[in-house]
Amino acid sequence: MEDTILRRTWAEIDLDALAHNYHQARERIGSKVRYLGVVKADAYGHGAIQIARELEALGADYLAVSSLDEARELRRNGMDAPILILGHTPPEMTSQLIEHNLTQTVSAQAKAEAYSAAATACGGTLRIHIKVDTGMSRLGFLVRGGHFAGGVEAILRSCALPGLEAEGIYTHFAVSDDDEPEDERYTWEQFAIFTRVLEALEAKGQRFALRHCANSGALARYPEMYLDMVRPGIALYGVGDDAERLDLRPVMTLKSCVSTIKIFDPDTDVSYGRTFRTKEKTRVGVLPIGYADGLFRGLSNRIAVQTSQGPAPILGRICMDMTMVDLTGLTGVHVGDEVELFGTLQHVDHLAQVLGTIPYELTCAVSKRVPRRYLKGGRITEETLRLLL
Ligand SMILES: *Cc1c(COP(=O)(O)O)cnc(C)c1O
Repeated sequence: MEDTILRRTWAEIDLDALAHNYHQARERIGSKVRYLGVVKADAYGHGAIQIARELEALGADYLAVSSLDEARELRRNGMDAPILILGHTPPEMTSQLIEHNLTQTVSAQAKAEAYSAAATACGGTLRIHIKVDTGMSRLGFLVRGGHFAGGVEAILRSCALPGLEAEGIYTHFAVSDDDEPEDERYTWEQFAIFTRVLEALEAKGQRFALRHCANSGALARYPEMYLDMVRPGIALYGVGDDAERLDLRPVMTLKSCVSTIKIFDPDTDVSYGRTFRTKEKTRVGVLPIGYADGLFRGLSNRIAVQTSQGPAPILGRICMDMTMVDLTGLTGVHVGDEVELFGTLQHVDHLAQVLGTIPYELTCAVSKRVPRRYLKGGRITEETLRLLL
């Protein structure tokens, strides 16, 4: 790739930080508990192929994605670890699931029946994990309250269907990353329901090799809930509420550079909507990054970008492709110099907090035109551009 493409705006992906985060989790869970790395949504914006490849090399036991397309991308690019599809796949595509040796989530008896019929028709066996809804109220067999007996019965019938191999069973927590006593109570309740379902199934002779429920929140807070496998996503990428607790390092750093510097007189309106007016002579840098790169417009006038000389506040509205920053006191910053939007100097969690959202949304939003630059041992190992040049 030509260097000029990269000098606009890019995301550095620190594979050493990824390895560090993996090892932190490994140490916590011990050698008996399996590790499933969640690489859905292009590994939360980090690049699913590169992250999955690294995770395989580190010794991750399983990978998870949201859809058949995401799973196929990994298979096509050489990943042969087991892959769990967390979301729905149309039963018409069962033969592809089998062909690519994928594990499908099954969240209701009707779906199990459809997968079973399709697998039998093509003469194969589909590996499945049963999903139980213990309180997230999204996907999963209903088992709460009056649904318990019926739910257990439906899971038993699903697992007994021909053409299906029930390898695992799991549930997902709604508030395992929250500190409120009410949230802890809810998480323990979800876990208790899951445990009761497992016991009821075992009593009927239905056992699973992989019982799992711990997302990043539970990895950090509830060692009692690791069971056979943990399922972290955000903790892998080194951000989120539990990053500090787990001693993690951020994997992604979003960078841009100063493309132009201008000196404006006092009382000059800057950018769309005239939301910022200079009070004095102001040295303004123009950065070639905007909301189309994933820099949320809601951050306009509310954060600083980090330069080698210190923070440079954003002035006025963030545009689609450009952003203005105040370099007045930062006389050592020149055209061509790098700036950091988020990463190691300024955590993405801070930006998420300012926006009233979660860091997941910001890393996922780093767009297709932002090249990813992979670093290992201080060296660039790969650069990828997603534009179809
Ligand atoms: C996304 C997801 C995870 C990972 O969640 P984090 O909060 O990123 O750790 C785990 N399990 C399921 C079912 C998910 O959808």
